[in-house]
Amino acid sequence: MHRQCAFRSAIGKPCRAAPLRDGEFCLMHSPERVKEVQEARRLGGLRRRRESTISSAYQFDSLNSVEGIRRIVEVAVLDTLSMENSIARSRTLAYLAQVALRTLEIGDLETRIADLEESTRIKK
Ligand SMILES: [Zn+2]
Repeated sequence: MHRQCAFRSAIGKPCRAAPLRDGEFCLMHSPERVKEVQEARRLGGLRRRRESTISSAYQFDSLNSVEGIRRIVEVAVLDTLSMENSIARSRTLAYLAQVALRTLEIGDLETRIADLEESTRIKK
């Protein structure tokens, strides 16, 4: 049989999560694990704040767009360029150049597809 967390909200709505193996509540609602959950939440909050500070320092948004990927490659190139010259540095730069080239190609395709979509929409 499918076990369910015994927690009920103020309006009596059940929690849909599976309970812990040795209890009747899920991790979030287990009275014995409150400290643990609070600590995890606190760490999650700290991490999110830290992530947002770092992304604004590097003007980096996310890897979800070509622009974001381009930015991260730029940061890596600048960091690598500032290192002392070596074969490893040259290899890294050559690799980053390849990634950048691929990103440029995909960005170009994205723009062209968007333009095409826009032009077909007008004709309808
Ligand atoms: Zn629960």
